[in-house]
Amino acid sequence: MSEEKDVVIIGSGPAGLTAAIYASRALLRTLVVAGRTPGGQLMITSDVENFPGFPDPILGPDLMVRMREQASRFGTEFLDDDVTAVDFKKYPLEVEAGGEKYTARSVIIATGASALWLGLESEKKFMGKGVSGCATCDGAFFKNVPLAVVGGGDSAMEEALFLTKFASHVTVIHRRDRLRASPIMAKKASEHPKISFIWNSVVKEITGDKSVNGVIIEDVNTHKTTKLDVKGVFVAIGHRPNTDIFKGQLPLDEKGYIILKEGTYTGVKGVFAAGDVHDHRYRQAITAAGWGCMAALDAQRFLEGRD
Ligand code: FAD
Ligand code: NAP
Repeated sequence: MSEEKDVVIIGSGPAGLTAAIYASRALLRTLVVAGRTPGGQLMITSDVENFPGFPDPILGPDLMVRMREQASRFGTEFLDDDVTAVDFKKYPLEVEAGGEKYTARSVIIATGASALWLGLESEKKFMGKGVSGCATCDGAFFKNVPLAVVGGGDSAMEEALFLTKFASHVTVIHRRDRLRASPIMAKKASEHPKISFIWNSVVKEITGDKSVNGVIIEDVNTHKTTKLDVKGVFVAIGHRPNTDIFKGQLPLDEKGYIILKEGTYTGVKGVFAAGDVHDHRYRQAITAAGWGCMAALDAQRFLEGRD
């Protein structure tokens, strides 16, 4: 058992690292258990153009290295390992990582969410080179070119509608003949002159050279394959919050997202949450960072006995 921490932050994406900057700058003994993908989702992207303060694009990994250095400057300690178990029924709280138990007077959960992917080799190969999971982030890189969106839910409709601002045309590829999306979103997308649909079809391969130039689509009924020429593929088949280790410890919604009670407070003494792990609406680096700041301030107030 190591020395008790004031704050243990689980996760080192924009939410976790912003929380760390605030907590350690407030002179709280702060440990970030960074996880096996230190830096979080932005580590797999190239240019970030919408994080304020960077008039020129900054590479996702560079932005995350800077955030980590900023937290280190104020004395944050890091452990690049996954948390394997937590016990929030005890106080001080207990967090297990790297075979060791850490006790904490407060915990900030910032474990993010993982986009679901199709699982194709070519999808991995062209990640950041035409394959994306975020139209708000990457849409502006695809001006006046044809694009594809995979999925039939609200996210896919939202991505498709957003992409019409830039693309010459957007084709939605859906595995069934009916959308899962809400009627209003489905209507908006269906009536948009720049959007068309390919039904009952799945993407078998993403083709290209240095970047994407098309997708091979298979009709699930006839098994006939066709090629569609596109310069970008936006996969929008859902997200999964990284909350498996918190089951039974915290209130989670039916999809596994953490439910907040007030501000960033989870309702469990000393436990706060920030970023994509509870926020499935905005899912942006800057909003996650904002939540991280709020969680650190809430933890600080809790430790000072002000709440
Ligand atoms: P994440 O970034 O998901 O970080 C989660 C952290 O938790 C990781 O460090 C992980 O290792 C850790 N973790 C998970 N499980 C455990 C565990 N058991 N123990 C310890 N640690 C754990 N947003 C923008 O604003 N602009 C963009 O240009 C942009 N581009 C994007 C491009 C891509 C390809 C993707 C996938 C997303 C992009 N986003 C962008 C969205 C943005 O990355 C997320 O909204 C943001 O990273 C969420 O931050 P977070 O800190 O909540 O979680
Ligand atoms: P979702 O509702 O789960 O939809 C996922 C879609 O992807 C479904 O159409 C599904 O097909 C398809 N899909 C799943 N796995 C696939 C695979 N392996 N290959 C091909 N297609 C696959 O997820 P979401 O769209 O991200 O929405 C999540 C939640 O957020 C929903 O509650 C939604 O209403 C909400 N949301 C709301 C808004 C809004 O109101 N503006 C915007 C975004 C999200 P099937 O239909 O065949 O299952």
